Amino acid sequence: MKILYAASEVSPFAKTGGLADVAGSLPTALARLGHEVKVVMPRYGSVDEIRQPLKSCGGFSVRLAGKDYPFTLWTCQLPDSPVEVLFLSHDGLFGRPGLYQEKGKDYPDNLERFAAFSRAVLEVPKIMNWRPDVLHGNDWQTAPVFAYRRAHLSDDPPYRRLGMLFTIHNLGYQGLFPGSEFPKLGLPPDYFAPAALEFYGKVNLLKAGLVFSGVLNTVSETYSREIRSPEFGYGLEGVLQARRSDLFGIINGVDYQQWNPAHDPTLVQPYDVRNLKGKRVCREALQKECHLPIKEVPLIGMITRLTAQKGMDLVIEALDELMRLDLQLVVLGSGEPEMEQKLKSAMRRYPEKLSVRIGFDEPLSHRIEAGADLFLMPSRYEPCGLNQMYSLRYGTVPIVRKTGGLADTVIDATSSHLEAGTATGFVFGPASAHALLTTVRLAMKLFREKNSWYRMMRAGMAADFSWDRSAKEYEKLYRLAVEKAAGPVKPGKT
Ligand code: ADP
Repeated sequence: MKILYAASEVSPFAKTGGLADVAGSLPTALARLGHEVKVVMPRYGSVDEIRQPLKSCGGFSVRLAGKDYPFTLWTCQLPDSPVEVLFLSHDGLFGRPGLYQEKGKDYPDNLERFAAFSRAVLEVPKIMNWRPDVLHGNDWQTAPVFAYRRAHLSDDPPYRRLGMLFTIHNLGYQGLFPGSEFPKLGLPPDYFAPAALEFYGKVNLLKAGLVFSGVLNTVSETYSREIRSPEFGYGLEGVLQARRSDLFGIINGVDYQQWNPAHDPTLVQPYDVRNLKGKRVCREALQKECHLPIKEVPLIGMITRLTAQKGMDLVIEALDELMRLDLQLVVLGSGEPEMEQKLKSAMRRYPEKLSVRIGFDEPLSHRIEAGADLFLMPSRYEPCGLNQMYSLRYGTVPIVRKTGGLADTVIDATSSHLEAGTATGFVFGPASAHALLTTVRLAMKLFREKNSWYRMMRAGMAADFSWDRSAKEYEKLYRLAVEKAAGPVKPGKT
């Protein structure tokens, strides 16, 4: 099949979170299955020309609400992959350092930026003279593609039978804008209705994907069920409930070329499941790098956006108690300024136990995965989560909340799982500081029982979350999307 994969971030070119990891690795796994995939993303000011210069494929313009948006199309290969990446450049909209924001503030023209980008995505097949079977969009930034295809191109021969899949990576981010901005989209007025893009008087770009795509999925089975409930649905549970027969859950895979402790160039010493000596060396190196004493105490790592979604408020609430325990905690993250401040001030109070790095630092994220004994991920909700899977591969035992993809990938250290040798981590239920502390204490107790501990580490390292299996699941959804191509959901039907 020919697949056009649209995403607002693609690793290694631009990344703020898990979407980039997925967009940078799923297409290669699909190519291994014999599909032809082209990935399309905006050319941000921060996109480096990695390993090879980008080649121009010419320019074109799209017109929205009477305004012309001239784009240039650029191309290069995804590193170590046969997949071609297409960049759409428009200096006025994307020639900026940030993807969505700068200094913690969203760009005020994000609706216009991603609407124009989405509309331009639909011109790519014409410019490339390439006819995809499936269009795969991701998250709110590319969701308008589905509304434009419906409103502007459903009678256009190359698009009439186009299969459409939309993936929700995080329902908490919906691309909400004031209703007064709707006209800028250049969509027919009846698309500003609850059955289409309107959401309580606002424009909700994500809804364009939810309503107009043939097939929907999210990034774990559990999350695909959770989002149909008021607790996780962020007001969209009704729309998702109405489309439940088209909604699937596919767990993300891990790019084991990027995340493999045996071949990770950022580590001082590589290691694998048969030889864990290198992990000790990485641990000491991490303690040194983080200015923590080199000690045999459980070292807990966190790499995260600093938000309540990730349970950072629970960690902050539990911090003084945590610091009373004989452990060390290394946090790498950025996000809400108040959380950053609280963590930094706690670091001043506990310099021997807590190290906090504010910022986005990919090499350090690898060194934390390798050097830590435990990885803490107490998310309130987690569509899939990648770091717990990286932790498993790096022999770093995850402590997670029982939600979304965390529940689907970590096997709790209950006595029966420990006995059977299947336990890979610690899973707790309530979203409370108390439950978090209880679970950390339990993990520390097991950390001292070396036989059980190594068994658990090894079970985690042997777990396989490679993309191949998930890519086959995506293949099935693409087939379904092609079958459904003749009958997308119409406005007024949800
Ligand atoms: P998210 O909800 O943020 O997308 P995921 O677990 O799905 O969460 O993916 C987050 C990705 O971003 C992981 O690859 C993680 O290592 C990376 N990441 C998050 N914060 C940082 C940071 N401060 N520095 C480096 N990498 C980070």
